[in-house]
Amino acid sequence: MSSNPNRVFNFSAGPAMLPESVLKTAAAEMLDWHGSGMSVMEMSHRGKEFISIYEQTVADLRELLAVPANYKITFLQGGGLGENAIVPMNMLRGKSSIDMVVTGEWSKKSAEEAKKFATVNLAASSENTGFTSIPDRASWRLNQDAAYVHLCMNETIGGVEFQSVPDVGAVPLVGDVSSTILSRPLDISKFGLVFGGAQKNIGPAGLTIVIVRDDLIGQATQYTPDVFNYAVQSKSDSMYNTPPTYAIYIAGLVFQWLKARGGVAAMEAQNIAKANLLYGALDASEFYVTKVAKDCRSRMNVPFFLRDEALNAAFLKGADERHLLQLKGHRVVGGMRASIYNAMPIEGVQALVGYLQDFEKANG
Ligand SMILES: *Cc1c(COP(=O)(O)O)cnc(C)c1O
Repeated sequence: MSSNPNRVFNFSAGPAMLPESVLKTAAAEMLDWHGSGMSVMEMSHRGKEFISIYEQTVADLRELLAVPANYKITFLQGGGLGENAIVPMNMLRGKSSIDMVVTGEWSKKSAEEAKKFATVNLAASSENTGFTSIPDRASWRLNQDAAYVHLCMNETIGGVEFQSVPDVGAVPLVGDVSSTILSRPLDISKFGLVFGGAQKNIGPAGLTIVIVRDDLIGQATQYTPDVFNYAVQSKSDSMYNTPPTYAIYIAGLVFQWLKARGGVAAMEAQNIAKANLLYGALDASEFYVTKVAKDCRSRMNVPFFLRDEALNAAFLKGADERHLLQLKGHRVVGGMRASIYNAMPIEGVQALVGYLQDFEKANG
């Protein structure tokens, strides 16, 4: 639990909570990182101090996710939405079409952006269910000559999550893992590429992580900016231009925090416990409603509704008074959403469940 009485439980979808111990370390090291006499923010990205931070951070991520040796890890900028364009620029490899699996607002956005670069085949979509489900794998219409298959492993807005990596055959799979990375084990070898912005489950906004298989690098289209060219950036260890140094440093502290807590498998156990607690409370009540099919419920983002939506404002006000913040749902979905990433302690979910029950008693 927090030692600071002012700390809140922040259920924001992103930027999101960070582990308090990470923030304390960063605060303690702010003026003088490890006797260097400077803040990490002030360091040259080519100096030995920052290079040591960078190398440790990449190595820790590789260890945490068991990233195979034939995959490059790059730390870029541009966010998840930037990758919606950067991925096709790098990954078409002379081909002209992309297969898209659309299970929510983020993969829908990815499909729209990709249309600027290639023919987009809608291989599957759950839009007709209001993005509350994942289309059965057997129904997907995949093309053997597609450059890649794109999907979003966890739809942050709709709260729909793949519970395992689907098999798509020989065509490389591209996964947007922005809001699920490091919340559970992920078999990177099943992907050609995964990408994610850091601000959901890792660290500060501004850092984008791209993990890509060696053999897919090096065929970017002619007009790909060098800073967004995976070949250029992986050859120069993400230092072709100045990387987001402070964000990388904080991500590194988060990776050390994860390792000290037992790594991704231990986080998964905690995340299952937190998700079960919250979904269990919602399922036990007639007062609250959830819409996502149970077999694809997200462990990270839990959208829910008050049956009587006239009570929404009162619900949010009462939550704020208990220091349970940012529970308002995304405007596209409405209702409420609780994002419970790695850094949300179980105490936060317990406090939310307590509030759900008290609010129902007072208003049900
Ligand atoms: C937040 C998010 C994005 C967009 O990230 P930005 O860093 O804001 O560009 C893309 N995909 C998913 C799944 C997200 O959760």
